[in-house]
Amino acid sequence: MTLPELLSRVEAATGPDRELDRDIWEAVTNECTHRETQFVYLENDERELECVNCGADTYGADKWSGLTASLDASLALIGRVLPGCKWSAGSYSFIDGHAGGEARIVLRNGFDSDADNEGCYETPTLALLAAMLKALITRQEETQ
Ligand SMILES: [Zn+2]
Repeated sequence: MTLPELLSRVEAATGPDRELDRDIWEAVTNECTHRETQFVYLENDERELECVNCGADTYGADKWSGLTASLDASLALIGRVLPGCKWSAGSYSFIDGHAGGEARIVLRNGFDSDADNEGCYETPTLALLAAMLKALITRQEETQ
């Protein structure tokens, strides 16, 4: 899944989404999220759940989980892939009572996710993930 495709999905998301958690995590970190697992029997007759694709023991390995639900989880990922960036996030509400999220990421090289002033997100967390994806898309384009 490409970063622009993920950005479109974040823009369309109406709340936390576990599939989106996985897809963003894999695209941004290049780490396996262990989608397909199988039981493997150990010498002591116990068994463990192992990833079919990378062979990892998947016990407790769902660090990608909750990415679209948690501001803290999103910020931890952003700190990893965009170290030293400045960010802000907040919520707003319209006069009709509908609430949404907004966020901004600014990088040292002058990138500002707010420059296009586009996007309306359901939650601050989704807005922050969208800003992260915009920053990574720009970086990808610059290095091509
Ligand atoms: Zn795996």
